[in-house]
Amino acid sequence: MALYTQESIERVKEAADMVEVVSPRAELRRVGARHVGLCPFHDERTPSFSVNAESKLYHCFGCGEAGDVIHFVETTEALDFPAAVEVLAERYGVELRRENEDPEAEQRRRRRERLLVVVERAAAYYARLLWGSAEARQAREYLAGRGLEEHVLREFRVGYAPEAWETLTAAALRSGLTAEEVTAAGLGQHGRRGGLIDRFRGRIMFPLADPRGRVLGFGARAMSEGQRPKYLNTSENELYHKGRQLFGIDRARAPAARGGRIVVVEGYTDVLALHQAGLREAVAIMGTALTQDQMSELGRAASTVFLALDADRSGEEAMVRAARQASGRGVELRVVRMPPGTDPAELIATEGAEAFAGRLDAAVSVPEFQVHRVLASADVETARGRDRALAELRPLVALTPERSVTRDELVRLVASRLDVPPDYVGTGARARA
Ligand SMILES: [Zn+2]
Repeated sequence: MALYTQESIERVKEAADMVEVVSPRAELRRVGARHVGLCPFHDERTPSFSVNAESKLYHCFGCGEAGDVIHFVETTEALDFPAAVEVLAERYGVELRRENEDPEAEQRRRRRERLLVVVERAAAYYARLLWGSAEARQAREYLAGRGLEEHVLREFRVGYAPEAWETLTAAALRSGLTAEEVTAAGLGQHGRRGGLIDRFRGRIMFPLADPRGRVLGFGARAMSEGQRPKYLNTSENELYHKGRQLFGIDRARAPAARGGRIVVVEGYTDVLALHQAGLREAVAIMGTALTQDQMSELGRAASTVFLALDADRSGEEAMVRAARQASGRGVELRVVRMPPGTDPAELIATEGAEAFAGRLDAAVSVPEFQVHRVLASADVETARGRDRALAELRPLVALTPERSVTRDELVRLVASRLDVPPDYVGTGARARA
């Protein structure tokens, strides 16, 4: 993590226009030396949010939120401190100085910056080809067939990698990059004859960016029948780590911070379809089980995380584990009931955006979701089946807060379905927890 000199940070604060930074989030009106408006952090009808353009401080007399311009960017855009400083420095043209960095760290950082340029150029190149090349016609048709509009595809910088063996690598080498850099950035690999060939060929390219929008790698979908694998990712490298990645986090971050929620889906086109339907706080985990790293990124973005995953695929244990991780971080996890075998993109296409929003409203906690699932498949005809279900259900019920209505309702539901006294469900849970 980059650490900037206090002097750099002061210069960023000095250069930033506080009113300009706040304005997209709150309509401000000048009152004497201050600017006031409706608070972006809580719901209100009379303005109690006050900004001082001179000292670059804000304060809400309603909810108590307060801080400086950097803190405002941290909170409203879900960025950590160094990233907020970087965003403002870039916007107001301030050159940042680092606290004395050891030479090795400096070397690593410079290499990383260089590789980021390589991947960034590749993203621009692939995006140009999707719209400009005749070969990409089938890819454009496929995306249009999924109901995705050009403006959304452009916003997410979706691209196309041509079928030839070395289009990208040849262009990269011509532009002065080295073979080692192209390979290290995950874009080239050595072919059977030893030469450098493109890793991605004949595929739709989805750029995978970090929360600030810097492209780290790609997810690529095969375009022709029989092309394997159907989905190919950048391999793990210095920039890209699959277990940390959330597709769309750069676009979802600000709306998630504003709305206090973020929606997790499986695939790229789900994110694009939701975004197009106005639900911008969506990210994809791309077919993997939710990792700790992803969970903490989600928790930084919003306090409530909705899982809109295919129920059969997300796995019971993984979900319970995720719920524990989430509650340890003060994040609420909610499960969206999805019809088996359908994804959010299809749901939006068939039921419309409002029906999907309704599913979000009806989302349940992980224990509730799992209890219903166990009950649905339990063998309630035999004593053995009911005992087995009871053993499975007790720890799930124990995940709910003690003395809560949620627990009470689950206890009663389980007791009535298994035809046992309620304390078989509740007491046992407490004894085991
Ligand atoms: Zn407030």
